[in-house]
Parts: sequence; C-alpha cells; structure tokens
Amino acid sequence: MFTVDAHLDLATNAITLNRDLTKPVHAIREKERQLKWKDTQDRGNGTVALPELRKGNVGLVVATIISRYSAAGNPMATLNLPGWHSPEQAYAYGQAQLAWYNVMEAMGEMVQITTWSQLQDHVARWTNNSPMDDKKPIGYILSLEGADSIINFKYLEKYYERGLRAIGPAHYGPGRYAAGTHSDGSGLTAIGKELLHEMDRLNIILDATHLTDKGFFEAMNIFKGTVWASHQNCRALVPEERQFSDDQLKLIIERGGVIGGALDTWMLHPEFKMGKSNPRELNINLEKLVDHFDHICQLAGNCLHIGFGTDLDGLFGTEQTPYDMDTIADIVIYKEILMRRGYTEENISNIFSGNWLRLLKKAWV
Ligand SMILES: [Zn+2]
Repeated sequence: MFTVDAHLDLATNAITLNRDLTKPVHAIREKERQLKWKDTQDRGNGTVALPELRKGNVGLVVATIISRYSAAGNPMATLNLPGWHSPEQAYAYGQAQLAWYNVMEAMGEMVQITTWSQLQDHVARWTNNSPMDDKKPIGYILSLEGADSIINFKYLEKYYERGLRAIGPAHYGPGRYAAGTHSDGSGLTAIGKELLHEMDRLNIILDATHLTDKGFFEAMNIFKGTVWASHQNCRALVPEERQFSDDQLKLIIERGGVIGGALDTWMLHPEFKMGKSNPRELNINLEKLVDHFDHICQLAGNCLHIGFGTDLDGLFGTEQTPYDMDTIADIVIYKEILMRRGYTEENISNIFSGNWLRLLKKAWV
C-alpha cells in the first residue's frame, strides 16, 4: 500500500549524524557499532534509510531541514540540541542539508515534489508497480522544522524557490520566530507573526507541531492557510506539553488538517523516560499508536484526520521505538493491526496515504 510519512529528518541524519542513507539500515548500524564513542543515544540503533523506505512502500515523505539558532543563555544549548550563533550560519547549514537532498535527486534516490500534478504522477509511478521499475525515487516535500534559518523574508523566498512547501516555526526552546517545546508560557515573536502572513502569501503549509500552547492559538488566529501537525500525539493519553490537548486537536480537525502519528515511545506512553526506560518492559508496541488514532477519530467523528508522521529518525532509534519495529519497512504491519482494531479498508487506505493526499490537493490545487 502506498504510504506517506509526514515527518522524517533525513538530511539531519545524513549531514549532522554522518549517515549514508543510500545504504541499508543494518549496514549503517554495523558501521556505527564500531564507533569508540557514542555521541548520540541512537548510534547503532537507527531505523530509517532509503532502501527500507522503498521496502515499506513509503513513497512520499515530508523531509525536514533542521538548523537552529541559539542565542546566548538559551537553555536548550546545554541539551543535545545546540544551535548556531547567528541566523546566517544557521541558513548556511540548512543549505548543506538541502544540497544533500539535491544530490539524492541527481542520483535518482529521491525526487522533490512541489505541485499537485507532480504528486499525481509520482503516486501513479509508485502504484502501477512495474517490475521494470525496481528503484523508485522517494518523493519528498521539503519542510523546515524550526524557522530560525530564515535570515529574513528575502531568504524565505529563496527557500520557496528551492522547493520549501511547509514550515514548523518552532522546535525546542526559544526560537527566533516562535517558542518551542520546553518553553511553555512563551508564544510567537513579532517576526513570527509576520512570518505567518508571509507563509499565507506564498501558500506554505503551517506545521503546528512543536508550537507551545500559547504560540499554537496565536498562530491559528493569524494564519489562514493549510495546517497540519506533522508528528503529533494526544495529551489526553500522554499528559505532557509536547502533545496536543483535545482543544488543539479539534481546531486542526475543524480546519481540515491532518495529524501525523509519531512512533517515538516518549510520545506514546506516559511512563517512558528518555535514556532510562525500555520499550519492551513498558510493553510499548506499534499498536499503542492506534490508541492515539482512536482518540482523534472520536474527536473528529471520522477517520479523515490521521496519518503517519513517524519521526523515526528524530535523534532516536530502536531504544526509543515500539519494540516490534526493527526498521521503518515494518510500517506495513499497521495494515493488520488497524484491521484487527476495527478500521475499514477505506479507513486504512486513508491513514496510509489518502488523508495526506487529500490535504495536499486542497492546499495546492
Ligand atoms: Zn520534532
């Protein structure tokens, strides 16, 4: 089944974490297991690479550029999310990530999607399953996770010209445009509000994920265009500021948005402690995400506002992933899980791709 994953940080893995994603997941793990020093918790545990996306039939991803700015005294700089000391440096680093996507395109590994007609052709190529077509390019929609690297709005236009079609203004901690996760109480900055007007003008999709509660409601008042929450679970099930409350989820539903279910065990189970808990001991399996899906479907009264936004390469690997998933290719298991949980064939097809495609058509046609 053709599958859309609305949130992967592929370029961060390639450029920040030095992973050759054209190689299979197990080869990347093997190489990293020989490292003498583990600089990130997921070394040797990664779950995402281009061959596994192909194997799992994940033919379209929303792929991010993450490049943060860190002002003096930013508390996040002490965590494993440091930032650049100027927006200009952040922009240049973002360009390095974009250059990687462009090289993947030149190799036929990926293809950038910016219009509905391109997307239609792309889906047709993936769904006609010609045996001659054994290396289909992974389609990607370019998104920014955190807008810090937009030096000013002239640079927003440059980004748009090079394919940028979605922006999450916030990431973690204080940001130039919006406060992100772990800086609850703050919201959008003055230029953050202007950014939303500029995004409306250019028809760029707003990714609400990582906005604080304050920033979220401010953004929903200002922004008129298409909204999604690319990698987002429910606060009713995992009570933490990173998740969205029912009021937030309902507002996205009312605006025709889609909420991408994330497979980070920290967002799936209230007792999971990063770096301490074990997914198997807490019995966190793939089915846990379906509890979040069920909750959103109850709020919506239908199954039209959920999809996958796995975040599976978001600085974690198998140590923080449902224990019954080895690589992203296992996403196909959801077909059987969702059937068992009472979802119809049509619901399932909408979850795997239909809901995201409908939103993109509405945004772009
Ligand atoms: Zn994220």
